[in-house]
Amino acid sequence: TTSQIGLLGLGTMGAALALNIANKGFRIAVFNRTTQVTRDFAVQAGDLAARITPTEGLQDFVAALSRPRAIILMVPAGQAVDDQIAALTPLLDAGDLIIDAGNADFHDTNRRAAAAGDVRFMGIGVSGGEDGARHGPSIMAGGDRADWDRVAPILTAIAASHDGVPCATWMGPAGAGHFVKAVHNGIEYADMQMIAEVYGILRDGMGLDNAAIAKTFRTWNDGALASYLIEISGHVAAATDTLTGQPLLDIITDAAGQKGTGRWTAIEAQHLGAPVPVIEAAVAARNLSSRRDERAQGQAAFGAAPQAMGDALTATDLERALIAGKIICYAQGFAMIDAAARAFDWPLPLPDIAKVWRAGCIIRSVMLDDMATALARSDANLMLSAPFTDLLRDTHVTLRKVVAQAALHGLPVPALSSALAYFDTMRTHRGTANLLQGQRDFFGRHGFERLDRDGTDFHGPWAD
Ligand code: NDP
Repeated sequence: TTSQIGLLGLGTMGAALALNIANKGFRIAVFNRTTQVTRDFAVQAGDLAARITPTEGLQDFVAALSRPRAIILMVPAGQAVDDQIAALTPLLDAGDLIIDAGNADFHDTNRRAAAAGDVRFMGIGVSGGEDGARHGPSIMAGGDRADWDRVAPILTAIAASHDGVPCATWMGPAGAGHFVKAVHNGIEYADMQMIAEVYGILRDGMGLDNAAIAKTFRTWNDGALASYLIEISGHVAAATDTLTGQPLLDIITDAAGQKGTGRWTAIEAQHLGAPVPVIEAAVAARNLSSRRDERAQGQAAFGAAPQAMGDALTATDLERALIAGKIICYAQGFAMIDAAARAFDWPLPLPDIAKVWRAGCIIRSVMLDDMATALARSDANLMLSAPFTDLLRDTHVTLRKVVAQAALHGLPVPALSSALAYFDTMRTHRGTANLLQGQRDFFGRHGFERLDRDGTDFHGPWAD
């Protein structure tokens, strides 16, 4: 009997996804560039091997699939994807489907979808890391709706589910799935950064040790902040290094890596004119984190900041600041997706996107369930939707207090302060861009509008 689906690329994610597919009762054929990896995988599959067909050549791989074929690619984003499409296409028939499940730049997915001919192409974002891929990821699909409908029975079966609703949804054509995955990752950067900033206050401002910090995260994980990222932050803070017996967190270098999805989100947001400043701050913070030597020079030149803040803040203050920061950050992310829906003419259903993120993915949290409800009820900015308006009324003063105390004590909180600046901007009717318009008219005759008259091309007295 032939396999219902194929998977190419048995790395961390591909192997886990293949086991998940077999575990859900589907017959799957697998192929990997390095043959030994395929052989090891077949052994490691155990009982599931009965539903897995390992193949050692592309022709055998393609021949093992029932038609019309569907093949998932799980290889590094970029050239490897183009190479595999080029290698597979001549072996495939009209109506066969290639699905790129890696972290592609959605512009690449747009290009590949546009270039697809008789052999169909989809791009799907898969989130949840290795464990998610094995036991239930969150899946954000892009491509032709008919192609999605064909593979949806398998992809919804392997996805995470929240209250019985699968976390796998069609977001729109072409690169729509990879676009939503990129924004997911951007929000992930921001969520992580805000937690790290609060960790800095707990550690350097309030003088808590790792055990107390871990306990604080555990407590928060029972409240409004309950989420995978708060949960794992607690585990990381509590961990002991196996080499030295020291608290693990104290020996991890403070320089963060990144693969680019957060940066893509920030850049795309600028293109769309729908800024996501909290995500931008998080991307910048990762970049600056890697300049350790420069920071050492800075500390030598200016001295260390006072940092210790006594009892100026409580852990509850920090929890409330994080709640406010999180709502503001997600408001930006959803506003960006909304702008993309208009600019690209894609469905990008906001409530369904919030639903897909409720389980399986890295940013999963209890708050996303309320966000799904709020976004279904109203298309206003999330900050202006119940229950988030009330939550923000309740917490923004504390966010201000935390940002102010951090500033006074020299503790950098770029993402939280950016969230506060966005909040203050969006609640200020009379802003200061009148001066910008005056400046622009002065040096460039760009003209301005007036509050007291209709028309768009007024000039200042300098025009004469
Ligand atoms: P790995 O490095 O673990 O695996 C890469 C796989 O791709 C291997 O099977 C490798 O084969 C194969 N491969 C590499 N280059 C080529 C090539 N030029 N031609 C053919 N096959 C190739 O990567 P991951 O599983 O971590 O990541 C795969 C994709 O999933 C990436 O796009 C990643 O961004 C994305 N992703 C990863 C997540 C994670 O948590 N790791 C989460 C979500 C998405 P070989 O054995 O021969 O080297």
